[in-house]
Amino acid sequence: MRVLLVEDDKDLQRLLKQALSDAGYVVDAAADGEEGHFLGDTEPYDVVILDLGLPKMDGVRVLEQWRKAGRKMPVLILTARDRWSDKVAGFDAGADDYLAKPFYTEELLARVRALLRRAAGLATSEIEIGALRIDTRSSRVTFDGNPVKLTSLEYRLLAYLAHHRGRVVSRTELVEHLYDQDFDRDSNTIEVFVGRLRKKLDPNLIQTVRGLGYSLESPDALRAESVAKA
Ligand code: CA
Repeated sequence: MRVLLVEDDKDLQRLLKQALSDAGYVVDAAADGEEGHFLGDTEPYDVVILDLGLPKMDGVRVLEQWRKAGRKMPVLILTARDRWSDKVAGFDAGADDYLAKPFYTEELLARVRALLRRAAGLATSEIEIGALRIDTRSSRVTFDGNPVKLTSLEYRLLAYLAHHRGRVVSRTELVEHLYDQDFDRDSNTIEVFVGRLRKKLDPNLIQTVRGLGYSLESPDALRAESVAKA
C-alpha cells in the first residue's frame, strides 16, 4: 500500500514517515501544498495524509482540486486547527477522516488501516481467504494456522492483492503501489515475488491471468465459481 504524506513540519514528517514505513507502507512525502497536489494528481495512492496549513497551497484547496479532477483516494486530514469550522471545510472538500494535532501515532495508523479497509469493503483488520489469514495490524500472516515469514515486499504484495481480492490486478498497478516514486521500477521483479509467495503459501493461491495480471482468491471460491459456471 502506498501512502502520500503532505506535511510541512519536518520533524513530524520524518516521524510519521518512519512510523508508516515500519508499518509496511510505501511512503512518498511532500512538504508543501503544490508538490503534494502534484503527487496526488499524478501518482496512484491508496491513502493520503494531508496537513491543512501548508506553504504554497492550502490543504483544503489541494483536496478540492483533487476531487474536482476526479481523484477518489481516501484522504485523512491532519492539522493543528481544531475549530469545528475547519473540520467542516475539510469534510466538505472531500476528506474521509480527520485527526487534530497533537495525536498518538498509533491512532493515526489505526485510522489509516480503517480507511484502507473501508476502501476495500472489509469489516475488520483481519483478512481471511481460505486457509490464509492476514492480520493487517501486526502484518502477521498465517496459512492453515501456521505462521508464515514474509519479507516486507512479499507482505506488501500479498496485502495489496488481498485488499483487492477477486479482481485482476495488473503488474503495472502492483509496481505503482508497492514501490515509492524514487524506486527503479521493474515489473519483472513482481513475478519473482509472486513465485516466492506461491512457494511459501499455496501454489494456487495467486492466479496468473494471462496478459492481464494476478488475482488472489481462495481455491475454494474458484472451485465454487467453476461449479456455478458449469
Ligand atoms: Ca502545517
